[in-house]
Amino acid sequence: MELTSLKGIGEKTAGAFNRLGIFTAEDLVRYYPRAYETFEKPAAIYELEPGRIMTVEGVLSRDASLNRFRGITIVNAYISDMTGRLQLSWYNSPFMKNQLTEGRHLVFRGRVYEKNGKLIMSQPKIYEPETYREKYQDRMMPLYSLTKGLSNNTIMKAAAEALTRSGRAQEYLPDWILEKNGLKSLEVTAIRMHFPRNEEELRASRNRAVFDEFFISMLAGARLSETARKTVSTHKCRPDLRMIRFMADLPFELTAGQIAAYKEIAADMSSGRVMNRLVEGDVGSGKTIVAVLAMINAALNGYQAAIMAPTAVLAAQHYETFRKLLEPHGYFDGKVTPVLLTGAMTAAEKKEAGRKIREHEANLVIGTHALFQEKVVYDDLGLIVTDEQHRFGVGQREALYQKGDLPHTLVMSATPIPRTLAIILYSDMDISVIKERPAGRIPIKNAVVGPSYRKTAYKFILDEIKKGRQAYVICPAIENAEDEDGRKEFEGEVENVTDYSAKLRKLFPQEIRTGVLHGRMKADEKDAVMQAFKNHETDILVSTTVVEVGVDVPNASVIMIENAERFGLAELHQLRGRVGRGEWQSYCIMINTSDSEKAAERLEILKTSNDGFHIAEEDLRLRGPGDIFGLRQSGEMDFKVADIYRDSVILKAAKDTSTELLKRDPQLEEPEHQKLRRILDTYIEKGYIV
Ligand code: ADP
Ligand code: MG
Repeated sequence: MELTSLKGIGEKTAGAFNRLGIFTAEDLVRYYPRAYETFEKPAAIYELEPGRIMTVEGVLSRDASLNRFRGITIVNAYISDMTGRLQLSWYNSPFMKNQLTEGRHLVFRGRVYEKNGKLIMSQPKIYEPETYREKYQDRMMPLYSLTKGLSNNTIMKAAAEALTRSGRAQEYLPDWILEKNGLKSLEVTAIRMHFPRNEEELRASRNRAVFDEFFISMLAGARLSETARKTVSTHKCRPDLRMIRFMADLPFELTAGQIAAYKEIAADMSSGRVMNRLVEGDVGSGKTIVAVLAMINAALNGYQAAIMAPTAVLAAQHYETFRKLLEPHGYFDGKVTPVLLTGAMTAAEKKEAGRKIREHEANLVIGTHALFQEKVVYDDLGLIVTDEQHRFGVGQREALYQKGDLPHTLVMSATPIPRTLAIILYSDMDISVIKERPAGRIPIKNAVVGPSYRKTAYKFILDEIKKGRQAYVICPAIENAEDEDGRKEFEGEVENVTDYSAKLRKLFPQEIRTGVLHGRMKADEKDAVMQAFKNHETDILVSTTVVEVGVDVPNASVIMIENAERFGLAELHQLRGRVGRGEWQSYCIMINTSDSEKAAERLEILKTSNDGFHIAEEDLRLRGPGDIFGLRQSGEMDFKVADIYRDSVILKAAKDTSTELLKRDPQLEEPEHQKLRRILDTYIEKGYIV
């Protein structure tokens, strides 16, 4: 259903929705809130804390006053309850004054600030006490990720209408699965994800959404591996002596882990069965070269091999690596030829690349999602590699897989996942682990500091830039959108790249060049910004976690992470891996803006350890299940709601259920499994649950 057929949504608002990736009413139904605001019972005035949005109830001690100050009108009022007195202020809303008369008893809800040692509530909303108690108290309001031109209120109303008008969600899980796992129906789930009436409801509906994400992706994975495992490979790759010379001549010595991983891969590829292997290795452990070796191995045996990277910049970087390693040396008599194919290339370039692939003129194909588009025809695709596989869904991997005739598959992950979870998530794959990093790297120096350290950090960054280095600054949010009540999405909560980059531009001398990167930019914009940073045309890159994906800028020596307590430890570790890739001493400055002891304890782990596997285990131990309100770890396995750490219990349940289902009905042929089967097919085709 078209967005514009919802009430109050015209072309312009629809355009704003498009920026959030929402194109239809159905998309909107799946656009779940990022958090919820609970309308709690009014607090006593003495319980108020600065920085928080809170509710109070009290009697106005006199009529509100209206003041003008430098062109701004300010309405001030004072209320009191049995525990104290509180000032309330509204800006540029002179009409507020009229309803605020002495003796009125009202409920106020707004953010509390401290000014000159006194607490003030700013821009509070006003409720009649009965109305508040009946309609709001203990209810939860969805808070969505916003963008310019789209308020929380607009999204909320549109979501409510989309939920009623886009038709009932058709249940696709059979009763026995719902019962076994105590799951709510799909219809209730969608409604309660947006409009939970209490925490219990939210927890239950979220559990269902998480279960589905895990379950469907596991079934898809199982289907992939089942076809693979049973089958004899038509791409048997015999070891080739020319590889030995190539390996000996590499510009560096392979680590023991790299050699072991390649040996396992070579054994799989010559075994006569189809390979389905995961290479798991910490950031910087050198996984690329392992993929290069596997791909050359396929090429020398007469097959094509493709590697899919999540961004065009990363693909181009890989292509450079291949070219550097291969072309000047002529190791393989020109028989091993790389070609690049990304969406960012011109039509003519793409056409030429497509021809080379089709005619088998090139046998190492390096690219992005563009690799599995319909137009691309391979001659004999014997191996597919997915780099940074946690950025892809199972569906996308499958789409590329379909391009070959039972090709070998190799997936590479830089997310060290705790063993207990890896066994569940990757039960259908063989795993090679690269534990150590290449020798001779200078360990990164870490600091976990409070906000008061920012000034020192900026000075430090400036010094590094003057030495010729570059720096990353990471913020959790993209922008601080303002809704129609003048309330900012993240005021006083987290830093955002839009405001932060503006602040740094003001703060630093003019010649310091700052780039901005975030996930809502178009792919080619992102690539351009990343490429500029890589070419040292910018000095500072202010970014959200999108930068996390494997990009190599050896000249960057500092990464400063704002609101570090908001990120998962594994994610912080990944971010930290953006520096320390060159010959320079590198630094990771984590700003902890929370005063919680638990946050400090978590960050301490990162400060003291550089071992991704250890960090992941600790993350699992500390975050544990049940904490539904924290920020989720982003990007993991392309899940929208689920978090493999926080939801590890549901992960296990989904695994057990998928195993049981496939035992009962391996091909999903029974009538009660038909709907599920259709969902699975579209998931494999489209990469998401419809
Ligand atoms: P990741 O595992 O994060 O994908 P890369 O493959 O990008 O790591 O490798 C990181 C850097 O380490 C690259 O610049 C690469 O050339 C280099 N490298 C890889 N293996 C070795 C090695 N055995 N010795 C020295 N440097 C290496
Ligand atoms: Mg990599």
